[in-house]
Amino acid sequence: MAKYIFVAGGVMSGIGKGISTASIGKILKAKGFKVSAIKIDPYINVDAGTMNPVEHGEVFVTDDGLECDQDVGNYERFLDLSLTEDNYLTTGRVYQTVIQKERNLEYNGRCVEVVPDIPNEVINKIETLAEKTRADFILIEIGGTVGEYQNLLFLEAARLLKLKNPKGVVFVLVSYLPVPGMLGEMKTKPTQMASRLLNEAGIQPDIILARSSHLLDEPRKRKLSIFCNVAPEDVISAVDAKSIYEVPVVYAEAKLGNRILEKFEMDPKKNEMAMWEEFTKKIEKSTDPIQIGIVGKYFESGKFTLMDSYISVIESIKHACWHYERAPEITWLSAEKYEENAKNLEELKQYDGIIVPGGFGNRGTEGKIKAIKFLRENKIPFFGLCLGMQLATIEFARNVCGLKNASSTEFDPNCQEPVIDVMAGQKDLIKEKKYGGTMRLGAYNCDLKADTRAFNAYKGKTISERHRHRYELNNKYRPVLEKKGLVLAGINPENDLVEIVELKDHPFFVAVQFHPEFKSRPLIPHPLFREFVGAAIESRTRLR
Ligand code: GLN
Repeated sequence: MAKYIFVAGGVMSGIGKGISTASIGKILKAKGFKVSAIKIDPYINVDAGTMNPVEHGEVFVTDDGLECDQDVGNYERFLDLSLTEDNYLTTGRVYQTVIQKERNLEYNGRCVEVVPDIPNEVINKIETLAEKTRADFILIEIGGTVGEYQNLLFLEAARLLKLKNPKGVVFVLVSYLPVPGMLGEMKTKPTQMASRLLNEAGIQPDIILARSSHLLDEPRKRKLSIFCNVAPEDVISAVDAKSIYEVPVVYAEAKLGNRILEKFEMDPKKNEMAMWEEFTKKIEKSTDPIQIGIVGKYFESGKFTLMDSYISVIESIKHACWHYERAPEITWLSAEKYEENAKNLEELKQYDGIIVPGGFGNRGTEGKIKAIKFLRENKIPFFGLCLGMQLATIEFARNVCGLKNASSTEFDPNCQEPVIDVMAGQKDLIKEKKYGGTMRLGAYNCDLKADTRAFNAYKGKTISERHRHRYELNNKYRPVLEKKGLVLAGINPENDLVEIVELKDHPFFVAVQFHPEFKSRPLIPHPLFREFVGAAIESRTRLR
């Protein structure tokens, strides 16, 4: 029988529930248990593919093609697991299943109600994951903040699962303790209120993770213990860490794993945190900087300007830098300023390597194309991801093959030289407005050409990588591109699609149609990110 650990958040969002959940999983895994995790997003959206990336963050993609929350990426990175569509739930997904079952008369013609049928379906999905994975522990992270209307039915599911299985469920409240500047003192009241809100939902937290900029002191620990009805040793200080990868070490030192196991009356089977601890020490030692720029676009949000969200790209760069014991210094560069003034391109010379990541729509694409031309001509290491590969192909077609009007039908549906064109099968979907979950999604195979950068990086002939796109390199243009020197280094064998392009006689010029960033792991950096950063280090050494 699997044990269930629910993780909910108090006071406010953005306090690291996902990292806390992943860290608990990491600690239990190190103690010899099989672990899996589910992220619950209370949105009506059926998946994250249609959510606003500025509000919601990165869309992560699993091998089986689910577009989900970036926390699923954190689980994969911390637990070194490849997860599936069973590891993510939204309100929309739950309702969709219930309505489908109702249509199939699976409720035997009785009235179907929000309570208990919705929470029961949530429990059903959690138990299905437990059965399929045969995990000892299932972690369930409930998105949002306690007290919100939107996640109430998920808390209801947690309460009912505990009722059914009193010894098999533990609740963790990740809460925030502010230290307001005008007081200079850590305040516990918001967390007391969050704990009360959980009580109102019929849930008593077993453990409180006290997130704060400062360590929790004894008097405040006692206060939280008394007012939240939690043993003092179950109130655990979770002070801001320098790196997210330190969090499991901090929690393990605070005996969080042991406290959880005691609640389930279980003993650890082993303790294997040594490799992870080594890794965090390596991060500390990595002080010599390496400058990586990401050319993307900015979004206005009220009075704030936000960067596009690319947590997996950023983490992948870090994994690769730490591999060489170098400190990643990542800078966000706005593509639009290269459209305004070509002189701005000169700043690209300050970087050891540049990434042009994935993206959608026209805005900023001309600036990115200009940047890629500059990187190609000035021999600055360049790595293109998805849209980045499409733009590298357009740049090459325009400036090397002389196809002045080369573009993508995504930006210009009537363009004269559609070197990037909508994929077969996607046209009708777009016409019928069938946008949700219909891109080319998830893992596909790719055959690598011998003697290419990609082949040498992966050290193998066939690879599998995750995708999320509707457009592709138009096969009609393959002969002219190849003739002028673009190396088509990877081809999808089933559909004959170009997946990787690269250039010879350049320190590193590789662009891929897939998203390698979804498969990089802290201890096993992705081969292409590793080679890209390796080339960046080399060019830095050469130039300075
Ligand atoms: N917009 C491009 C496409 O749909 C690229 C997508 C991406 O970068 N993820 O093909």
